[in-house]
Amino acid sequence: MSQSKTIAPNSIEARDIAYQFHPSVDLRRYEEEGGLIIDRGEGIYVFDQAGKRYIEGLAGLWSVAVGFNEKRLADVAYAQMQKLPYYHSFNYKAHGPSVDLAEKLVQISPEHLTKVHFTSSGSEANDLVVKMIWYRSNALGLPDKKKIIGRVKGYHGVTIAAGSVTGIPANHGSFDLPLDRMIHTLTPDYPRDHLEGETEEQFSARMAEALEELILREGPETIAAMFGEPVMGAGGVIVPPKGYWEAIQAVLRKYDILLVADEVICGFGRTGKMFACEVYGIKPDVMVTSKQISSSYMPLSAILMSDDFYNPIADESHRLGVFAHGYTASGHPVATAVGLENIKIIEERDLVGNAARLEAQFLSGLRGLESHPMALWSRGVGLIGALEIKGTAKVGEMGQLAQACLLEEGLIVRAIGDAICLCPPLVITAEQVDEMIAAIGRALDALAETDLARSVL
Ligand code: PMP
Repeated sequence: MSQSKTIAPNSIEARDIAYQFHPSVDLRRYEEEGGLIIDRGEGIYVFDQAGKRYIEGLAGLWSVAVGFNEKRLADVAYAQMQKLPYYHSFNYKAHGPSVDLAEKLVQISPEHLTKVHFTSSGSEANDLVVKMIWYRSNALGLPDKKKIIGRVKGYHGVTIAAGSVTGIPANHGSFDLPLDRMIHTLTPDYPRDHLEGETEEQFSARMAEALEELILREGPETIAAMFGEPVMGAGGVIVPPKGYWEAIQAVLRKYDILLVADEVICGFGRTGKMFACEVYGIKPDVMVTSKQISSSYMPLSAILMSDDFYNPIADESHRLGVFAHGYTASGHPVATAVGLENIKIIEERDLVGNAARLEAQFLSGLRGLESHPMALWSRGVGLIGALEIKGTAKVGEMGQLAQACLLEEGLIVRAIGDAICLCPPLVITAEQVDEMIAAIGRALDALAETDLARSVL
């Protein structure tokens, strides 16, 4: 995996190592090995400096719906930069692009979501939702109703509050997280965790019972909200089993607990519907979107909410004289203009339909790989999926090696634990899905030849 490569002095690799503190790496390992410098993109592919082509099997960070060289987004950004490159939304000001995008989001999202607040990242959005929930509980005269439920392996970002709702130990370790108002319930990972003979529905009922037990243990009057990704992404692509969201929502309704659907990965077509809430019958009080909202060409996120969520907050801001929260870049005109154009492209090219149409081929391709000696089981929905492979006692060791083999084969993916996770750009074609599946097959063959793999075969 850690191929020794020579890094020429003053090369971009050397300067990167010298000057840049990277996110989400082992910094000491980075000093030794550096990173793969990606130079340009085209459709579902990216190219490194030497011109080697890779399928971007994770769409960057689960985010580039329209592919890596969409000129319309560049043109819209350029035009907006020339007309009004920056303006803010504070102090009773507004500008066209954020209004247009807010209107569009309300039109395409579930009917009961009626107001939009813009931020720039998924973490910022979720962090602010936590603040809004606390503000709202205070407004309602419920100062004790503040705890937030997340899920083990749930991912909602890395800022202090969002990172606390996140249920991934690596995001907590040494950061002094989670905050003590954040508690976590079970991961609905049916293939891994179901009991012998337990159906998906029975498993879902057990997950709902565990949630109810947690609520009763903590005191229902202390719990304000639960956050959940309709399909868990960074926790390893965990697809909810049958009946899961129905059972969970029934418990939340019983105890008057809000539901925040984190659609940061799922939103804008990933699961074959515009929003995954439609796939799973989720009726959230708040829906958080980012990533594919602008195909990540510009940093952008949007919080959509119901009237019932919004009104107490609006009243409280009136009582205090101001909703004293906002960012310099909230509703940035270039980001929101790019976001609107990106959604128009998703609609015009029917990329949501493309995900729905390719789902069967994509998932059966993954299922076909299950017979490989290195593979265990696969899972997915729409154009997001994962293949679990045989690991060693050290979780993630084989996944990392598989990731390196896949890179050799020209496919960039994310190994999470020992799962190869896939989330290609929504512009992918049927031929390219086959190309991606074939590359995984070849990479698994190469993996099977390694000493580490031989130890588990
Ligand atoms: N929520 C989910 C579901 C995510 O997948 C992510 C990012 N992977 C985030 C929130 C955080 O978004 P960001 O990285 O833009 O802060």
